[in-house]
Amino acid sequence: MDRFDLVKESFERKVVPAEVPAGKTSEYFGELVFDRKKMCKYLDAESLQALLACIEGGKALDRKTADGVARGMKEWAMEHGVTHVTHWFQPLTEGTAEKHDSLIDYDGKGGVIETFDGKMLAQQEPDASSFPSGGIRATFEARGYTAWDPTSPVFILDDTLCIPTIFISYTGEALDYKTPLKRALKAVSDAAVPICKLFDPGVTKVYSYLGWEQEYFLVDEALYAARTDLMITGRTLFGHNSSKNQQLDDHYFGSIPPRVAAFMRDLEVAGHRLGIPIKTRHNEVAPNQFELAPIYGEANLANDQNQIVMNLMNRIARKHGFVVLLHEKPFDGVNGSGKHNNWSLGTDRGTPLLAPGKDANGNLQFVTFFVNVLAAVQKHNALLKASIASATNAHRLGANEAPPAIVSAFLGRTMTEVLHKLLEVPSDTPIEIAGKKGKSLGLVEIPEIFVDNTDRNRTSPFAFTGNRFEFRAVGSCANCAGAMTTLNAAVAEQLIDFKAAVDKELAAGKKTAVAVMDALKPIIKSVLDVVCFDGNGYTEEWKQEAARRGLDVETNVPKMFCEFTKPASVEMFTKTGVYTEKELEARNEVKWETYVKKVQIESRVIVRMAINHIIPAALEYKAKLLKEVALSKEVYGNLEGCSTELLILDDINKYVEDIRLKALAMKEARKAANNIADDYGRALAYHDIAESFPALRRPIDKLEEVVDNRMWPLPKYRELLFIN
Ligand code: ADP
Ligand code: MG
Repeated sequence: MDRFDLVKESFERKVVPAEVPAGKTSEYFGELVFDRKKMCKYLDAESLQALLACIEGGKALDRKTADGVARGMKEWAMEHGVTHVTHWFQPLTEGTAEKHDSLIDYDGKGGVIETFDGKMLAQQEPDASSFPSGGIRATFEARGYTAWDPTSPVFILDDTLCIPTIFISYTGEALDYKTPLKRALKAVSDAAVPICKLFDPGVTKVYSYLGWEQEYFLVDEALYAARTDLMITGRTLFGHNSSKNQQLDDHYFGSIPPRVAAFMRDLEVAGHRLGIPIKTRHNEVAPNQFELAPIYGEANLANDQNQIVMNLMNRIARKHGFVVLLHEKPFDGVNGSGKHNNWSLGTDRGTPLLAPGKDANGNLQFVTFFVNVLAAVQKHNALLKASIASATNAHRLGANEAPPAIVSAFLGRTMTEVLHKLLEVPSDTPIEIAGKKGKSLGLVEIPEIFVDNTDRNRTSPFAFTGNRFEFRAVGSCANCAGAMTTLNAAVAEQLIDFKAAVDKELAAGKKTAVAVMDALKPIIKSVLDVVCFDGNGYTEEWKQEAARRGLDVETNVPKMFCEFTKPASVEMFTKTGVYTEKELEARNEVKWETYVKKVQIESRVIVRMAINHIIPAALEYKAKLLKEVALSKEVYGNLEGCSTELLILDDINKYVEDIRLKALAMKEARKAANNIADDYGRALAYHDIAESFPALRRPIDKLEEVVDNRMWPLPKYRELLFIN
């Protein structure tokens, strides 16, 4: 089949209708999750109580109770035709890991029975020695183990009971994303509660909430399969821009193509059955780009759900003849995909901490958390950027609606004015709800709700959007836990320091509100001067201004990772109990190694494709032209009628030679880089290789413009990017 057959096949692909269960969504929502309702139905009273104490109070489950819980789960699972069980975890790779075990065991009478007990539920030892661990597990102590995270409910995928687990080494080091995230969520709660108590003594726990927005591309599977680069690296390594792409803004929020709508519907149903509250779906800015978002939830659970959704997307897409691209920049010249992490804090009394309160007390609490978040982002801006940095996200940052590689915070006009005002007025000035009292001089007012979010700044990586901050720099294929762990830990540290500052003011005999405001004022001054920026993040002036303000402007990804082991980061992470220094060092090794491998694979693919896809196509066309020229000479005795052919031949020769030399140089650079022994050094060398991709790509894209369309072997952007 040639390219034209594939294009035709993709164009003619029929809509496969979505399979939607009968009844309302609320009737099948969560049916494949062992949630509270199922716990009540399938567990005996004792197991239920113990499990709830474990989920809510963090109490350990003893073996006997675990057996009771497992019994109930088994009964429920088998009613759904489950035959296998797996500990489902999130190693430091992309995606999740699972190793399925059948439920069967010998029954002692020559047959088998289905078994599932507390031991299988609580802990397993997958021989998972091949996962990246940054040297924490030398092979002689290779076994890590997985342990159930009861705060994330067990769920059923196909015929398998999936148990969300943490993955740690025998010596207790985290080998996954979930463990540090859970530590960070505990840290932020522990640090926030004493501050909340200043405003509401009844608070005992603070929750961290996450609402992710998942952007993605869809491409037709036939065309995808013809692009080795997409198949192997998840992005196109070359391809000339389509004449029309997103200039007309006609895709954004446009009507969803029927094939895509059917895919989305199936995805929603699958998500809803798994208790994932998928809410929003729409076309994104780039052609073939889409987004989905759930209702936000507790961060650990929301992150698990995002991992499940990414997995579901991949499977369900195939039913509709699509492949999902979760890469941050699958196509050059159009928008990349991010995963905005909407993040907020709230108390166990139902009070949101990043939204205005009901009265002056509530407003002061809001401003307290608001300002401390900004302070944490300011202090650890470089680290936060490192937390979202990856080989793939590097292509997205800084262009086409993606935030730049500088972490600043957008407040909007209202909150900026409030902060300025607070610096001017006496510390006992109440912060009123706008409109409740008549205007008077010296009054500090904030709106009860931020109705108008239209002045949202798309170029800001960390934007306040009324009741939450939106961390927009997170990459579309990333595990949100990377960013969420760092953010929550940084905020926890800041809250601990802030509480100490308030205590000092209180010790000086000040009233609570005054003590809080006096502790806040120097922080407000500092964040307004440094981290807060409402302007256009794309401009050259901002880069210079940001550097002048002391914000990190590093764009080299391997260098960014160094932030994790700098003294301020180590102090923050160890003080909050989120990472040990050993874990941080190990993780950096993994990050550099992953970076190297990603670029290495891409580099192999681009070089091989250049040599055995692109150059042969160009030479085939060249041969055709040469034949025409020779024929012309034979017929007319001169080359006068061949000026076009000769010019094209010149171009082809020039580009082919350019490609050949650059491909060769890249191969040599790889050889040299591979000889560098230390991970960091090798990653730096590979960063240089990554920087040289555009130079190799340019002549290839030029050739695509020149070579006879019929001879071009690979689906072009214009064919990949427009689902009908
Ligand atoms: P937009 O694209 O305008 O930012 P979306 O509706 O696509 O808005 O996504 C907004 C996301 O923010 C949703 O996932 C939503 O659940 C989440 N969200 C809303 N309020 C909060 C909050 N207080 N804390 C965390 N996430 C929130
Ligand atoms: Mg959105």
